[in-house]
Amino acid sequence: MRRVAEDRELAARLAEVRANIAKARAEGAHAAKNVRLLAVSKTVSAERAAACWQLGVDGLGENRVQELLEKKRQLPPEVKWHLIGHLQTNKARQVVGQVELIHSLESWRLAEELEKRAAAAGLIIPCLLEVNVAGEASKFGLAPAETWDLAAAVASDLPHIELKGLMTVAPDAPAEEVRPVFAKLREMRDEMRQKAEKFALKRLNMQELSMGMSNDYRIAVEEGATIVRVGSRIFGGRVYR
Ligand SMILES: *Cc1c(COP(=O)(O)O)cnc(C)c1O
Repeated sequence: MRRVAEDRELAARLAEVRANIAKARAEGAHAAKNVRLLAVSKTVSAERAAACWQLGVDGLGENRVQELLEKKRQLPPEVKWHLIGHLQTNKARQVVGQVELIHSLESWRLAEELEKRAAAAGLIIPCLLEVNVAGEASKFGLAPAETWDLAAAVASDLPHIELKGLMTVAPDAPAEEVRPVFAKLREMRDEMRQKAEKFALKRLNMQELSMGMSNDYRIAVEEGATIVRVGSRIFGGRVYR
């Protein structure tokens, strides 16, 4: 009985998030045509993550490699896994070939390591560059000013990494402070696309904007997010063990 009630609540929360995304898409002047919804299943049991996948989301997001791989073993093979958290260079080997998209590429060192592992496995790894738009000391990510240089270097020299766009985590702040952060990421992406064309960087195809979490996904969609990463609004509050 408990399971039935839990599943019903999960379905209701998911429906609410979807309705909010649709509304934000309709209202936002900069909204993207397609918005993928990732359910962030960190700290959630494999069983609940599976229930959520069955209800129909575009992917499951985890921020730790170990937890992602453990859950992946327990869920159907068709689940699309996204690594959204910081990736240590020494764990790069473990994610190659395991995920749909790495959202957190933020250094040349990590890029080189991923390149090496991907080349060895004969794979091309889709990645986003993580940008610390607001320059918060507590957050990972590239400074906006260094993002283009890394993108251009990866696109020129690392053929087994496919850069698909940008990702950011906004500050925990009121809407009027969060919105410009998302707008800035969109502007950065648009500028990078123009530069890629100008410099004929054919492999640099920046389209995706991974931005927006439980507290700010509606604003993110209005500002052009193509992927939102929603955890607690779908699964309820997290219990860290
Ligand atoms: C945990 C996490 C999320 C989801 O956070 P919620 O506030 O629970 O929606 C999204 N993105 C990243 C990078 C995270 O670590």
